[in-house]
Amino acid sequence: MATIISGKALAAEVKSRVARDVEELRSQGVTPCLTVILVGDDPASRVYVNGKEKDCIECGIASRVLRLPAETTQDELLAHVRACNEDASVHGLLVQLPLPAHIDERAVIEAIAPEKDVDGFTPVNVGRLVIGEKCFAPCTPAGCMEMLRAAGVELTGKRAVVIGRSNIVGKPMALLLTAANTTVTVCHSRTKDLAAVCREADVLVAAIGRPRFVTADMVKPGAVVIDVGINRLETGKLCGDVDFDAVSEIASAITPVPGGVGLMTRAMLLVNTIEAARRTLA
Ligand code: NDP
Repeated sequence: MATIISGKALAAEVKSRVARDVEELRSQGVTPCLTVILVGDDPASRVYVNGKEKDCIECGIASRVLRLPAETTQDELLAHVRACNEDASVHGLLVQLPLPAHIDERAVIEAIAPEKDVDGFTPVNVGRLVIGEKCFAPCTPAGCMEMLRAAGVELTGKRAVVIGRSNIVGKPMALLLTAANTTVTVCHSRTKDLAAVCREADVLVAAIGRPRFVTADMVKPGAVVIDVGINRLETGKLCGDVDFDAVSEIASAITPVPGGVGLMTRAMLLVNTIEAARRTLA
């Protein structure tokens, strides 16, 4: 039976570390501040933004949320982003995605100052991640790496398979795993014989967006399985991309959903915000 890598326990640890870091920064005259810009009233985005606000307050990080109407124009939004870029009291800045259809998401992300880009989505941070320079790594894959570290998973020389090639999860996950000396294969909807590729993985990361897609026959006995997926079933219950019950019979370690990667994603945003604040002292 697999060990469960709990996001709940680990996120709590990370948050208490963040709270200590906030104290230290405050003693040096810096109050870390995260600003989130939310455009429109997408219910899921509202929930995510409220969660981010709550996390900040819990750790002593100043939280500002700029709630803008759905009709906000791209130029207006860009003006808000630029104002936050120039506001020295804002250390971390993110624009909650998705944006309304009339706004060009890439143009908005590219306007965020790289030194405040705590989501790690700007081309500058993505480029730094690719060439292995100090950067803000996107929170979800950074959270997965933290979970692997905390579980004591030895990565060097191991085979890793990432299912999913999105810019926010799959691709940066593959880069972080490569930097940690695993040999990585990235799979997607056009991959042939996906199950056979997955069975080669010592570390299998599922970031697909399909409930219980990864079944036990796709997992090598003893593999470590990281489930990034968050899917809402018709019953209203959340489930991951991995068939947890069956896979936990053969994996050596597995992350649960809920209570797994999602909580670590939230925690890593706080870590990145602290880092952004700390860099202003350098
Ligand atoms: P995207 O939809 O952007 O990407 C999904 C990826 O899965 C694509 O690369 C797609 O391939 C691939 N895929 C889809 N169907 C198949 C298939 N049948 N076989 C193989 N690959 C397939 O999703 P995200 O990366 O944004 O998110 C993935 C999941 O993670 C979602 O459930 C999302 O809710 C969750 N998520 C969770 C977070 C957390 O904090 N835990 C944070 C962010 C996301 P192709 O490129 O060919 O289309």
